[in-house]
This record gives sequence, structure tokens and C-alpha cells, in this order.
Amino acid sequence: MNIAIVGGGISGIATAFYIKQFDPKVEITLFEKENELGGKMHTAKKDGYLIEEGSNGFLSNKPDTLELVELSGCGDILLKSSDNARVRYIYDKNLQTLPESPGAFLKTPLLSLKGKLRVAWEYFASAKKDDTDESLQEFGYRRVGKEMTDIFLDAMVAGIFASTPSKISAPAAFPAVVNLEKEYGSLFKGMLAKKKKEAGPGGVLMSFKGGVSAFIKRLEESMDINIIKNIDIKQIKKTDKKYKITGDNLGMTFDKIVLSTPAYESAKILRNLTPDISEKLDKIEYSPISIVGMGYDNLEHNLQGFGLLATSRAKKEVLGVLWDSSIFDDRAEKNKKLLRAMIGGQRSPLLALKNEDELLKLAINGVKETMGIETKPDMFYIKKWEKGIPNYKVGHLANVDKIFKSLENIEGIYLNSNAYYGVGLNDCISNAKKCAQKVINEKS
Ligand SMILES: Cc1cc2nc3c(=O)[nH]c(=O)nc-3n(C[C@H](O)[C@H](O)[C@H](O)COP(=O)(O)OP(=O)(O)OC[C@H]3O[C@@H](n4cnc5c(N)ncnc54)[C@H](O)[C@@H]3O)c2cc1C
Repeated sequence: MNIAIVGGGISGIATAFYIKQFDPKVEITLFEKENELGGKMHTAKKDGYLIEEGSNGFLSNKPDTLELVELSGCGDILLKSSDNARVRYIYDKNLQTLPESPGAFLKTPLLSLKGKLRVAWEYFASAKKDDTDESLQEFGYRRVGKEMTDIFLDAMVAGIFASTPSKISAPAAFPAVVNLEKEYGSLFKGMLAKKKKEAGPGGVLMSFKGGVSAFIKRLEESMDINIIKNIDIKQIKKTDKKYKITGDNLGMTFDKIVLSTPAYESAKILRNLTPDISEKLDKIEYSPISIVGMGYDNLEHNLQGFGLLATSRAKKEVLGVLWDSSIFDDRAEKNKKLLRAMIGGQRSPLLALKNEDELLKLAINGVKETMGIETKPDMFYIKKWEKGIPNYKVGHLANVDKIFKSLENIEGIYLNSNAYYGVGLNDCISNAKKCAQKVINEKS
């Protein structure tokens, strides 16, 4: 069997890896538009700093990423975050630690007494009667109240999706949380029941020595597949029982094709083969986000923590600031410090698209306002993602279900990327494994 995978981000790479794992005889060609694999996983190097352009790691509480690390022989470059990283901050009226225990929650000044009582009332709040979709804001207001939603859920969704509670679907973005209400009638009841069943620590943030690109490089070297870079795949055509892939003077035929490209690229590639699916793929929107890495030679700041997320109502120009050199030792040389500010998202999409000078000014002002840092950085590095993270708006799951239903009628074509069922690295890898299994099972 001869399989093409289009898109060399983690979804495409992991799909290729697992197909080979399940059946080493399958021939695979991986096509990538850029001159390097990795997509949103890429580490830039500048003046001794390692600056993540996208993801900086994954949580160790889901098994699939750790399994891929082991199977690909990358265990030796796995890097556990420092204990500092367990402390997270929220900037609402000022900088406060994120409460991690019931005791800390009772004491936190982030919520008023009324807000805390409303959260406690979640235990008794009646469960939603139907399966209709709703925004995270609607879900949050119903379950834990306005204050908790506008502070905690707002900051959390900015950190994971670069979105805001009113613009994202709760069941699509946080299925595990929504399922607690469905199964147990309340989030508290669900968490208590799960705690009894699944005793054990939560996840720890993990990354790789040398940054996430070191993992991508190793994965690339570990696979016996054909990799073609710098090629923009344009279209798929049906020929007899096979598919022809076209783009940049290419015309190769394959038995099966996996599209691990962003939804808008998959829409373009499938336009002639299946305009109906293509139209639905075009409905999946993306949030722009820019990352401003700032390196400091002599910064007088304690920086013990993971970083901060700002709430929308704090009206800051940064969504958050990650304290990278406090999380992973190798991100900056000894005694130097590296911060990464996130700008834009659904909250203020136009800010992400500003020019580099303006983005740097916003980031410098952002760390001044939220952390009191007045020192100018000695190094800066900017990465702009015009279409950074898929925004699973209300209706996302219904649209995606229709896409995959229609795809069942098109034998040999598969879709697998962060556009559908989760954006975290853990989700991408576990969905890639499922996709690989499907490709192998449906042997023609
Ligand atoms: C700023 C930022 C921070 C993040 N932080 C985290 C984090 O800390 N932890 C976490 O778990 N997740 C994080 N994420 C999310 C995570 O990084 C992504 O969801 C994941 O890397 C996406 O992988 P993917 O392979 O599905 O898509 P992509 O990485 O987008 O890969 C798609 C690939 O397809 C290629 N391509 C596109 N069109 C074509 C074409 N026509 N022909 C050939 N190739 C094509 C692209 O060049 C790209 O390489 C972050 C994302 C961003 C943007």
C-alpha cells in the first residue's frame, strides 16, 4: 500500500509514525510546504535563547505523547518542567497566584465571597436537559457563575485556544468538563467521583532538551519514509482506483491520502474532489496570535512560576506572559531570563497582525503593566501566526460530524489535524494514532 500524508506538523508526523508502527511494509510519502517539518512546533534559536514559536510542551497525564516519545527513542531528550512551573498566575486587578487547592481557593482575593459561594452552589445547580451546543460563557454562567467564568474560564481559554468564553463552544473545546455534567449532573460531583476512581497525581508539564524542534528532528530521523519538503500541495484528483496529488510540478499517485493540513488548506486541496466537504472545512475559523520572545541579560525579577494569564476585563494588551526560563532550564543561558508574551487571539485579533515594532512595544508595555518590569529586553524575537489556533465556535462539532460522515463515502481519503477534535499536542497525537489505525484497518 502506498500512502501520502500532506502536512508535516505533529498530526501528520505522528500519523506517519503510527502507520509504520502498525504495518512496516506500507510505503509513505510525507509532503510539507515549508523547508522544515513541525508546523506549529518550532524552536527558534537566537543569542543563546531557545524561543518556542508555538507549543512549549505537553502534560504528562495522557499516555499517547509519552508512548510516542518512547517508541521513537526520544526518552533521553524528554525534559520535565521545574517545580517553579507548578505556580501559575492570573492578572485581573493585579497579579495573583492561581489557587490550586480548595484551601487556596477559599483564600484567593481573585473572587468575592459571593463569587465563591456561587461556585460552591455548582454542586446543586440542575444539569442541562438537552444536548444542544452552547458557548463556554453560557456553560460557565450556568454552572459556576459569572464571576468565576469572567476570571478563571476567560483566562484559561485565552491560554489554551487564544479565544474568549463567548466565542468558543464548551462541548467542542472542553469535552471532558462538559461530560462531567452529562454523566454526574454536576462538575463537582463528577470530579469527586473521578478522584475516587482514578487516584494519582495530575499531569506535569514536559518538553524536550533543545526545545520541541529537537523532538520533531528525532521523529523525522527515526522514520523510514519518503519526505518531500518545500512543496505546496494544491489538489487531489481521482484516477481509476487511485488518487493523484498535484502541486508545484508534481503528479504522484497513491492508494490513500491523509490530509494533516489546517482546515482551510484541506478545503483548497479537496475543492474539486468534494466541494461539499470543502465548503464545511472553510467554516472552521482560526485565531491569529503573535508570540514576542524577550531575553534579558540582567533582569532584577524573581520569576518563580509558569507565567501569567490576563483576564479580558483587565484590558491588557497581552493575553499572557510565559516565564519560559523559569519553566525549563535550557531556554536561556545561566543568569539570563526569557519571557514570551502572547498577543491577539479572539480577544483582539487585529493586535496580533501589527508590525514587529508595534508588537514589541505592546509586549514591553504588557510586562510592565502586569509584572512591573521596566527593563528593556536585550534580545527580542517575534513570530506572527495569522491563522494560529482553530477556534471551535458554537456549531463546530455538528459541522465536523457532517464532514466525517460525508468522508465515509470517499474511500481512501482521511482528515487528521488540530482542526477537529482538540488542539493540544496530546490530542493531536492520540487522534493521529486513531487515524493511523483506521488507515490500516480499511485496507483495500
Ligand atoms: C502560539 C501557539 C502556542 C501553542 N502552545 C501549545 C502548548 O503549549 N501545548 C500544546 O499542547 N499545544 C499548543 N499549541 C497547539 C499545538 O501546537 C498545535 O495544535 C499543533 O502543533 C498542531 O499540529 P498540526 O500538525 O495539527 O497542525 P500544524 O502544526 O499547523 O501543521 C500543519 C502542517 O501542514 C503544512 N501545510 C499546510 N498546507 C500545506 C500544503 N498545501 N501542502 C503541504 N503542506 C502544507 C504546514 O506547513 C504545517 O507544517 C500552541 C499553538 C500555537 C499557535
